[in-house]
Amino acid sequence: MPYCCRCGNQVAETDQFCARCGARQVGARPVTDFAASFSPRTASVLCYLPWIGWVAAIVVLASNTFRNNRTVRFHAFQGLYLFVAWLLVQWVFKPLSFLGPGTPILQLAILAVWIFMIIKTSQEQVYSLPVIGELAEKSLSE
Ligand SMILES: [Zn+2]
Repeated sequence: MPYCCRCGNQVAETDQFCARCGARQVGARPVTDFAASFSPRTASVLCYLPWIGWVAAIVVLASNTFRNNRTVRFHAFQGLYLFVAWLLVQWVFKPLSFLGPGTPILQLAILAVWIFMIIKTSQEQVYSLPVIGELAEKSLSE
């Protein structure tokens, strides 16, 4: 158990600051990156989980672990945009549903793409979707 470098109070190894005096602890172990507990493949697949993949995508994009992993970040962006596409269908096409059964068909299509991407990605294939894949590529180079 280490001690605070200023006041001598006992601190945990991962404490960035002393609980008593607030001094920054120089030797503190960096907090482990949550995303680091996943392999690149698992992290990529998680980004395509229907409806909740965007959470994984944001974790991946915010994490240090995958900062330099183009492939994982590509999947994260693609998963994120796929969810945006889903939301667009919800918000834009639903009010127009009197025009025809477009919304359920589009939603089924996106769900099929999610499942397709989970299969492709778990086989470690990088599949670039039309439009969404191009957007993801652009986001990567920004
Ligand atoms: Zn202290």
